[in-house]
Amino acid sequence: MAMMFINGNWADALSGRTYEVKNPANGKLVDAAPEAGKEDVEAAVKAAQAAFPAWADTAPDDRAAILRKGIQAVEAHAQEITALLTAEQGKPIFEASGELHHLVHGLEFYTGLASKLRGAQVPLPPALGKHAYGLVIKRPVGVCVGIVPWNFPLTLMGTKVGPALVAGNPIIIKPARTTPLATLKVIGLLNEAGLPPGVLQCVTGSGSVVGESLICHPAVRRVALTGSSETGRRVMQLAGPDFKRITLELGGSDPCIICPDANVKRAVSGVAVGRYWNAGQQCLAIKRLYVFEQVYDEFMQALLEKVGNYRVGDGLTRPEKPYIRMGPLHTAYQREEVESQLADAAEKGAKVLIGGKRPAALDPALQEGYFFEPAVVADAPEDSKLVTEETFGPVLPVWKVKTLDEAIQKANSSRWGLGSSIWTQNMTWAHRAVREIEAGVTWVNQIHYGYDELPFGGVKASGLGHEHGPEAVEYYVEQKGAVFGGLDWE
Ligand code: NAD
Repeated sequence: MAMMFINGNWADALSGRTYEVKNPANGKLVDAAPEAGKEDVEAAVKAAQAAFPAWADTAPDDRAAILRKGIQAVEAHAQEITALLTAEQGKPIFEASGELHHLVHGLEFYTGLASKLRGAQVPLPPALGKHAYGLVIKRPVGVCVGIVPWNFPLTLMGTKVGPALVAGNPIIIKPARTTPLATLKVIGLLNEAGLPPGVLQCVTGSGSVVGESLICHPAVRRVALTGSSETGRRVMQLAGPDFKRITLELGGSDPCIICPDANVKRAVSGVAVGRYWNAGQQCLAIKRLYVFEQVYDEFMQALLEKVGNYRVGDGLTRPEKPYIRMGPLHTAYQREEVESQLADAAEKGAKVLIGGKRPAALDPALQEGYFFEPAVVADAPEDSKLVTEETFGPVLPVWKVKTLDEAIQKANSSRWGLGSSIWTQNMTWAHRAVREIEAGVTWVNQIHYGYDELPFGGVKASGLGHEHGPEAVEYYVEQKGAVFGGLDWE
């Protein structure tokens, strides 16, 4: 049975309670994990509080050296970790490898920054004597909590662990209830590389008990959530009264615009990855596609051919080329939700051009899996759930547009504002999209991807603050001003 990692040790829940983690591809048990309660949270927070002063005082180079050793250990166990990730999450093994690579790249990025964080020195007007100056000092915030969803358990854990640790904070990770296993393995390896007890911990269990107890604990100063907008609202309510520092990376309904001069072949590849990677369960997936009428037929023919090449199945296996493996949806609920969103659009007049069903023929060993054929849907009405809700699965609604004004207006007609993209050779149009689309990122002729080097975060209902990039570290430090008076008194 898997164990949590608290105060430098593997631990069961103090209550002894456990829950089962099942494989979404076949419904079989992968492992059991501790069902933590408030008392486990208490133990973890206490350990983090105790670890904070010494970790904050550890030289940045020394923090980086431990992390670097931990990253090497993670790389050395890549096969085991990716197999666990595929078993608990459902994603194909090549996607799990991609996720692990992204985790390692992100941790390396922050490890490299550890000794490069700096404040500022500011000359000040004389008040009592000449040569007064101010300092902007950056100090770690204290005990941090990272709450992670199930769609990218490793990378989204890394986007919190990296900046928190290099800035000198302890952090407690709460993985999604259904995906604790690969996370625990990675957190164990990072600890074994020499992190002091209490600096990096992991408590497993539900959002309502573990998540809320962590957020409400008076000693926790900083909460980073990646999750749905509904959970973000709840986290904000809980963290608000005590003015805790929060960042919220929430849901999205990313628009993508295909212009008449787009490179169709590349755009089709970009859209397919953008919508169907991770079986469409990505915050920054392309969830609304606007194609100019001049290029609509050519684009759609190529897109439907591409989508026809997906083969759903167990993520541990690969189909023959040119077929592309798509894993199951993560839970039964997730599949039912996508089915109901698609049914709603079809009832209101949308045309399902391909897919959108549970596979008719499936290996009997996979009958209990949550498989769903990737779909493309034309002309979903504006009031259909495919437009008004976040579609967290492999369904792509497409509309024909006539002008860039119309495309941008439609792109902005959403309560979310996470990512967005445009495919065009026209620099003026690209600049207009970057300037006018209300979103945290606009990719031009590029897949939707959260680069470690660039800040990533949403506007509107997509969240608050940023992860990724050097900017993310700023959310793990408090800035303090110091003023040194004049030096000419003698
Ligand atoms: P979720 O909000 O249900 O859960 C996310 C995490 O929050 C889990 O660990 C969960 O246990 C915890 N949680 C749930 N309720 C809680 C509560 N009341 N208090 C504290 N913690 C609580 O989201 P999910 O279904 O796991 O993930 C999918 C969602 O995440 C989608 O909306 C997706 O768009 C979003 N997401 C956003 C980003 C981003 O960077 N913006 C990235 C990935 C996923």
